[in-house]
Amino acid sequence: MRDSAPLRPARRGLAAAAVLAVLALAGLAAIRSIQPPAARAETAPASDFSAERAFQTVRTIASTPHPAGSPANDRVREHLIAALSGLGLSPEVQDTVSVQGAGLSSSAGGTGLARVRNVVAVIPGTASTGRVFLIAHYDSAQVAPGANDDGAGTSTILETARALTSGERPRNDVVLVLTDAEEACLCGAKAFVDQHPLAREGGVALNLEARGSSGPAIMFETSAGNRRLVETYAKTPYPVGTSFAVEIYRLLPNDTDFTPFRESPLFQGLNTAYIDGAAVYHAPTDRPEAMDRDSLQHHGDNALALAREFGALDLRELKGGGDATYFPVPGLLVRYPGALVWPLAVLALVAVAALGWVVRRRLFSAIGLALLPIIVAPALAQGLWALLVLVRPEYGGMPIDPYRPMWYRLAVIALAAATVLAWYAVLRRRIGPAALAVGGLTWLAVFGVALAALAPGGSYLAALPALSVAVSALLATRAGGRTGLAVAILVIGALTPVVILLPTVVMLFPALGMPMAGVGAFLTVLLGLALLPVLDLIHPAPGAARGMDALKARRLGALPTLAAAVAAVVCTATGLAVDRFDEEHPSLTHLMYALDADNGTARWLSEEATPQEWTGRSVSGDPTTVTDTLPAFGAERLRTGPARAVALPAPTLTLVSAETSGDRRTMRLLLDPQRTVRFTTLHVSAEVVSATVGGRTLAGGPPGWGFVFHAPAETGVEITLTVRASGPVTFRVMDGSDDLPAIPGFPPRPPGVGVLGSHSSELVAVAKTYTL
Ligand SMILES: [Zn+2]
Repeated sequence: MRDSAPLRPARRGLAAAAVLAVLALAGLAAIRSIQPPAARAETAPASDFSAERAFQTVRTIASTPHPAGSPANDRVREHLIAALSGLGLSPEVQDTVSVQGAGLSSSAGGTGLARVRNVVAVIPGTASTGRVFLIAHYDSAQVAPGANDDGAGTSTILETARALTSGERPRNDVVLVLTDAEEACLCGAKAFVDQHPLAREGGVALNLEARGSSGPAIMFETSAGNRRLVETYAKTPYPVGTSFAVEIYRLLPNDTDFTPFRESPLFQGLNTAYIDGAAVYHAPTDRPEAMDRDSLQHHGDNALALAREFGALDLRELKGGGDATYFPVPGLLVRYPGALVWPLAVLALVAVAALGWVVRRRLFSAIGLALLPIIVAPALAQGLWALLVLVRPEYGGMPIDPYRPMWYRLAVIALAAATVLAWYAVLRRRIGPAALAVGGLTWLAVFGVALAALAPGGSYLAALPALSVAVSALLATRAGGRTGLAVAILVIGALTPVVILLPTVVMLFPALGMPMAGVGAFLTVLLGLALLPVLDLIHPAPGAARGMDALKARRLGALPTLAAAVAAVVCTATGLAVDRFDEEHPSLTHLMYALDADNGTARWLSEEATPQEWTGRSVSGDPTTVTDTLPAFGAERLRTGPARAVALPAPTLTLVSAETSGDRRTMRLLLDPQRTVRFTTLHVSAEVVSATVGGRTLAGGPPGWGFVFHAPAETGVEITLTVRASGPVTFRVMDGSDDLPAIPGFPPRPPGVGVLGSHSSELVAVAKTYTL
């Protein structure tokens, strides 16, 4: 690689066109390889997974919201039992009380518990060596019909079970686990792992989820030591997963039913979800019509293949092997042992250093200057999103993404491209193309090493492109005068960054959402820096500037930047025109109602950071905590406004018996909601030494200790508390239902204004104090 470019302008133009075409084709192939397959018709062979057949289940179970404990959820459960029985299986209901796992950040205001009713069925193996568990939750969030979350997983399991029972049976037992109360506290999965006899010996857990309505079904989480699991996953027809996703997922505040399985030493497993179209997540718009059935097909094709693959293995030999690095390329899932992460990262650093030795001139300036686009592009991407929220304040209330984020994502990519190209055009003559290219590669190699230390599963993203491009540039230097050959070598080297980084950018946008678009811009910049040696061809030959009018050359050099900048503006404008709020795509608002039964006062409450016009009719002022009267809300800051008090009955708290010994008082209590509620809570003013709630032992705690009990039975919740007190103790109890629009004085939402998919949206809470 030298600063002189021996290609004549005409041949240079031709070479540039050819290079761009090759890279564009590679990019398209890479993006295509992570697209879901087409949904298959109901007439597909019985041994295959058909999204259209599975979709019939989605339609049945996701007609209405069905949170744990609701009559609608009872109907869903009955349908599942009937469907499994229809396959000749013997489904059973695990009816128990469960406590959320210790690994979870406890829900606001105390430990979460739930009465759960898991539906469990076994497809007995022919000569079982262990158990394969297919897991999905059948409950929905309280305002969401849950077509995708998790009607997708539930229907996938039913259709997979149909396919498995219609042909040759697997060798191993396949256990279908349709959990309850995932949305409440992951309590169904926890109950299964802790209490179910079928879980005692552990096995392979395959969890199926959705956090949106479309996109590929990404295998994004594994248990520790995943090498053998990933080997099996690679045999699915459409493997879309990367070890980088495991690292990213750790940064996100989400948890799924997989968590209790992952935390148990008895289980290994994989977690899969599709995550694009996240505007419907937990919202009333998560309806069957919103589902992209191609995503369902992807879920199903891979779930069925995994059930068959793990169903055929000797599961006793599955353990061990450490963690693998893996990522999709067209036609296969590349994978190698984690032991290679460090050698590859170091090798990349060495290759880039060798290239730097060849270039030498102005190298250190170039390395320093290469930080500019790495910092500026993410900042511009975040600025673009801030601008979009300014133009359309409703975007501030979207939890992950707007309804149609595609144009905005393209705008971010164009903005990042414009940044790299502008930086390159300005510095190319002063610093030199070769030095700038090595400057960029240096940072990729450095990130490769940093990731090897901090997030090994993601190191390949930076190390492999740096290694590939540096080695190809070294070889191209050797090719000397034969410039056609040199260009060909450089293009081959550039295929690695395109194939590795482009699909990651495409998967990362839905994973993190537009509010974190800067991360997508960051990876786009890394791709741009890795491509500098070939991108140089779309700039005028450096030597030519002397022959040609220098001004003309500079103008020509600015063309790529200009094109990218125009693309960014056009994509942003198109996004604003396309992604408008309407009845099908409403803006998302959050409102709750709380009645204090002690004094008959009521309030509206909202968690919106910047209240929208509709919400602003009910709440105002600065956000405050409401823990003094509503301890179940925890530290969350809410906006409030006065509301009309409605005669709603508060939950009763009855002292069944009490015994005092020394400074300790042991009380048996019955907490009994007087309405149809989704949950009930209790907080204690004294120190709690020990507690049993619904038959489950909870750790005690200082004054303010409390719990949230989801889906309480008609008979109420039995509690035994030992508190540090010799006299009466004050309790604050609350319950919650989801019938906000039935409250007199509720302002009807105009068309185009919808409900935020939050676990507290539309809540009607009634609180009361007892001193017993
Ligand atoms: Zn879910």
